[in-house]
Amino acid sequence: MSPEGTTQANAEVQRRLAYFDDRGDQIVATIRELVEIESPSDDKPAVDRLSNLVATKFAALGGTVKIHPAKDFGNHLQVEFAGKSDTKPVLLLGHYDTVYPLGTLATMPCRIAEDKLTGPGVLDMKSGIALMLHTIAALKDWHGELPRPVTVLLVSEEEVGSDSSRAITESLARKAGAVLVLEPSYGLEGAVKTARKGVGEYQVKVIGKAAHAGLDFQKGVNAIVELARQIHKITDFTDLKRGLTVSVGIVSGGSRTNVVPAEATAQVDVRVARLKDAAGIDKKMRALRPVNRKCRLQVTGGINRPPMERTAGVAALYEKAVAIARDLGWELGEAAVGGGSDGNFTAGLGIPTLDGLGGVGDGAHASHEHILISQLPRRAALLAGLIETA
Ligand SMILES: [Zn+2]
Repeated sequence: MSPEGTTQANAEVQRRLAYFDDRGDQIVATIRELVEIESPSDDKPAVDRLSNLVATKFAALGGTVKIHPAKDFGNHLQVEFAGKSDTKPVLLLGHYDTVYPLGTLATMPCRIAEDKLTGPGVLDMKSGIALMLHTIAALKDWHGELPRPVTVLLVSEEEVGSDSSRAITESLARKAGAVLVLEPSYGLEGAVKTARKGVGEYQVKVIGKAAHAGLDFQKGVNAIVELARQIHKITDFTDLKRGLTVSVGIVSGGSRTNVVPAEATAQVDVRVARLKDAAGIDKKMRALRPVNRKCRLQVTGGINRPPMERTAGVAALYEKAVAIARDLGWELGEAAVGGGSDGNFTAGLGIPTLDGLGGVGDGAHASHEHILISQLPRRAALLAGLIETA
């Protein structure tokens, strides 16, 4: 680019930042509106209330709304926007459910304190939804219509595994040129996420034999003792060098102190950085055998989300984002994280996926969850640039 071209590009970028700066209050107002409609994953009427509001907002921007009804969860929302070019659509992906039960707003209100905006789900990921809305509005304002087709998918049960929405996410991703996930960014500098671990959940149940701990001690088969041995084995499956972790998160078992326990159960969290390790750990979990042959073992569960690996497609998308951020005067970092998102599904299909494009802040899923208001304009400008070029 000629020096003159660079100056023009800079002027354009500055104009865009100023555009979103001018609309900062409107973006914050939208986020507040979304946060103040609580939407726990397990409360369909609550999630549907929010879904209806969000659908109305996308429709007002000219999007074609399609509701995917879900029986046990809130409905999933797909919105299609036509674009000037006939390139493949970019898929903007996110969720409107949160981990907070109804009534959380009473103790965790949506408030502004200096640069922080607090509230349940403000970071994960209602600010991400607001960024989608305001960025689409801006692109229409600048270009008259969207520069290319855009598909939005917001699901209702990401926080509880996305079982009911996974097929929809995957079918829309297959049609897309790239997937942009508006989950929270990483760290207070707002790094994007270019790798996420795959996530699995297993339940290991031991069945022994109950007996009076005093009268019939030798007739009993202690399920807790067997489970303790299994926990040792399971824990040793961890291989930090490979980014493979196995963590026993919950144990339960026994009924009374004076009864040899007949049952004991462990719930196990498994994370894999590489897809090729998923089958191996699954096989190991299923191959667990009792140490005490008088016990029986039942292993259920499996790998729920494949890892999002930093493929060439992911890296190329990240480089585009870095270039846009550089024009905005900022060094955009990248992070590999242990937590999964629906971006794992789309990256698992080989579709270039960039995650963590949403709000910048801290405390996701915790009582101090917040975003930094001052970061919103450049997040919106980055998203706009990515929709144009991804
Ligand atoms: Zn999330």
